[in-house]
Amino acid sequence: MGILVVGTVALDSVETPFGHVDRALGGSATHFTAAASFLTPVAIVGVVGEDFPHAELDFLRQRKVDLSGLETLPGKTFHWKGRYGFDLNSAETLATDLNVLTQFSPKIPKNLRESEFVFLANIHPALQIQVLEQIVRPKLVALDTMNFWIQGEPDLLRKVMARVNLVVINEGEARQFTGEASLLKAARQIQKLGPRIVIIKQGEYGALLFYEQEIFSAPGLPLESVKDPTGAGDSFAGGMMGYLSRVGQVDLKTLCQAIIVGSSMASYNVEDFSCHRLKTLTLPEIVSRINQFKKLSHFEEITL
Ligand code: AMP
Repeated sequence: MGILVVGTVALDSVETPFGHVDRALGGSATHFTAAASFLTPVAIVGVVGEDFPHAELDFLRQRKVDLSGLETLPGKTFHWKGRYGFDLNSAETLATDLNVLTQFSPKIPKNLRESEFVFLANIHPALQIQVLEQIVRPKLVALDTMNFWIQGEPDLLRKVMARVNLVVINEGEARQFTGEASLLKAARQIQKLGPRIVIIKQGEYGALLFYEQEIFSAPGLPLESVKDPTGAGDSFAGGMMGYLSRVGQVDLKTLCQAIIVGSSMASYNVEDFSCHRLKTLTLPEIVSRINQFKKLSHFEEITL
């Protein structure tokens, strides 16, 4: 049991209308793990540079996250600089400094090659392929990506997608990747490549699940205070995959529940910068938000 995640461990400089941080802890694998580690054992494979403040990951060590696959290479840690306006749904990337990521070649430790659940978080698709080539008989492999790689490596990305079971992608990127305006058509086009399951994230408005022919929609929970949406997608994926791994099943019922767990995690993540909110989050708080989600879209049977 448990999840193997490969993705970026980063230093992020982020500006929103509600504040800013400079070189704060970030990265797709970090945000994913901050959420998933509430639910299931997680092992990270990734790379940082010599400038990385390792003590920042102590909260993950306390949750027994396996960091033995996190390499340190000479050079600087991956750095992302982004800005959000009042519409917090899309980030403007100001800089993507790949740094040590360009020398990285993921080596999956022997004991992790048989992980049942694998998450290829947002990272270069060539690295995602290298991971696929080292894992043995996984129950579920999921993939996330973003505009940077859709633009830079579309063919390679198509190749990796064909080899995974689940793709999670945000709505703008699904349209960019497929050239389809309709999200239904975009999801069907991605399913045709291979993955049976496609999840389209819609920022503050929720998420859509396409499972074979079925569709399920999770609402977005209206929040009073959103400070920084960075990592919302990754913490959503962490909650979702964490729940699937905890239950050990991938069927429609579990997937629908998993998407609500993911939405709850993301709704907390956006309340503060970096991973601050998920550091102090508790299981009872997660349960309480899941209940708010249930109330938000529940209605009694309608007879006409
Ligand atoms: P999201 O969940 O989509 O908001 O992802 C935010 C995280 O993605 C940030 O913490 C960044 O460090 C990381 N990130 C930004 N650009 C890239 C990229 N091109 N590849 C991998 N990770 C990235």
